Amino acid sequence: MTSNTGHCLCGAVAYAGKGERGQIHVCHCADCRRWTGGPFMGVQFSGGVEVSNPDAVNWFKSSEWASRGSCRACGTTLFYRLAGAPDNLIVTAGSLDDASEMGQIEEHIFIDSKPPYYDFKGDAPRVTGAEVFARFQASQDGES
Ligand SMILES: [Zn+2]
Ligand SMILES: [Zn+2]
Repeated sequence: MTSNTGHCLCGAVAYAGKGERGQIHVCHCADCRRWTGGPFMGVQFSGGVEVSNPDAVNWFKSSEWASRGSCRACGTTLFYRLAGAPDNLIVTAGSLDDASEMGQIEEHIFIDSKPPYYDFKGDAPRVTGAEVFARFQASQDGES
């Protein structure tokens, strides 16, 4: 049990993050809240993620640019991936085996979509949806 491994509720899907583990990014957009039942708290690894049983993951294409993976058997929300980086899975912080070291939130995105019924402590940067899209656009322009 480490903070680089995780699994779903029923155990059909397990994974191991490779390389350096990043800090938590929180997304407050309506899609993420609908998918997870709350804000999406994601963690990324520098070397990607190895999934034990890829066939047990159901992928749902939630937008032109991203898909969301959950366990076919128990429905646990597990992975988020961008179409442009299909091998670089972002895992849900809640599915980590040991999150005791995960003390830091690095950034909140789509903060303008956050409903008033919850708030996070700390002073991690709060970024709006428009700012996220502008950043994404800039990175696309940079690559072409
Ligand atoms: Zn499961
Ligand atoms: Zn979101």
